[in-house]
Amino acid sequence: MQDISEFSRRTGKKIGFVPTMGYLHEGHCALMIKARDESDIVITSIFVNPAQFSPNEDYNDYPRDFLRDYHICKSCGVDYVFYPDTKEIYPNDYYTYVNVNALTETLEGKYRPEHFKGVTTIVLKLFNIIKPHFAYFGQKDAQQAAVIRKMIKDLNLDIKLKVSETVREVNGLAKSSRNTYLTAEQKEEASALYKALNEGKRLVLKEKMYDTKELKKEIKKFIETNSPDSSLQYIAVTDNNNLEKISNLKDYKGGVLISLAAYYGKTRLIDNILFEK
Ligand code: AMP
Repeated sequence: MQDISEFSRRTGKKIGFVPTMGYLHEGHCALMIKARDESDIVITSIFVNPAQFSPNEDYNDYPRDFLRDYHICKSCGVDYVFYPDTKEIYPNDYYTYVNVNALTETLEGKYRPEHFKGVTTIVLKLFNIIKPHFAYFGQKDAQQAAVIRKMIKDLNLDIKLKVSETVREVNGLAKSSRNTYLTAEQKEEASALYKALNEGKRLVLKEKMYDTKELKKEIKKFIETNSPDSSLQYIAVTDNNNLEKISNLKDYKGGVLISLAAYYGKTRLIDNILFEK
């Protein structure tokens, strides 16, 4: 892979890279199509990264289907699919991890303490293998995008981060490989999450609800009313770069990120909405 990338770079080609954990859906395809549009060579990686799962999470159950993914990659114009073996990435004597502090301790990081260390480690390794000019990530994982942005800046990586908006089902549910765990009824109910986030946006922009404690209470109420089978883990109102909590939006100017996580049975879903105030 490094030889192919090196050759491409030497011949003046721009490499666009889309890292994924596979079981691809239209959200991944949107990133590949954007990469196809903006780069000469498009490379996608498919790797379910054990380092970003904690022992009680779904690493073993995570859906995998390489052939299906391979055909999707082809149809989205991907030139190379990088599909390494776990032992190749993490041999028995693997000891090195990279961590972004502060940003990884809030939101998702609070409930998944080792998660982002695993993410930044694999992404940096993949960057070193693929040597991309552009790296494509989804706003669906807003904190992940912010953490990678920070890693690129702090470690002076010569890579341009491109973040694409979340692709959704018709009912608003964010596309996710984990949606395969949901029943048809749960998929319908879980659409309440995005509706609730939109309601939050409306309350801020139209009703001028600036006290974020009150705002979060309203969003929670909306979810409990419209999706009684959900179990909300957190809602947070932050800025989109440093992910710092905003307690009152009255004098705040800039991007407002409302993010949440909720369980449907054992399935954990995340979603967010980003808007300008
Ligand atoms: P994953 O395979 O879940 O690790 O996701 C790989 C990349 O696709 C990440 O940058 C995600 O943020 C992005 N992604 C996942 N779901 C969506 C979606 N519904 N819309 C846009 N991007 C997404």
